[in-house]
Amino acid sequence: MKDKCSKYESLFVFSGDDVLKKHIEECEDCRREDEKMQKVSELINEVKFYYRKKQKKIINFKIACAMSLVLFSTLSLGILTSNNDLIDTLMYGETLTAEELGFPVDSYGLIMVD
Ligand SMILES: [Zn+2]
Repeated sequence: MKDKCSKYESLFVFSGDDVLKKHIEECEDCRREDEKMQKVSELINEVKFYYRKKQKKIINFKIACAMSLVLFSTLSLGILTSNNDLIDTLMYGETLTAEELGFPVDSYGLIMVD
């Protein structure tokens, strides 16, 4: 009984396509080996397709995250600029009273109107 040919791997790695093809035509063991390799590479291509699809989903998700972050910061900036008390608190450490803003006030800190 003849030993199984083991040239396939070395031909696949070290020789050109034509050398490998020529040997596959002559050697049945390597032909079978090559069929197996073809199946594996088909499988890999299939998996690659799903992987790319998944990667695209991840990219879309990242874009969605960035967009919602921009939206959120724009909104909170809008709230900040429309809320003077909050800005005073952030800038001066406390809310400015009517007196500090230069209005005439009574002893309760309320603006006097007379
Ligand atoms: Zn062979």
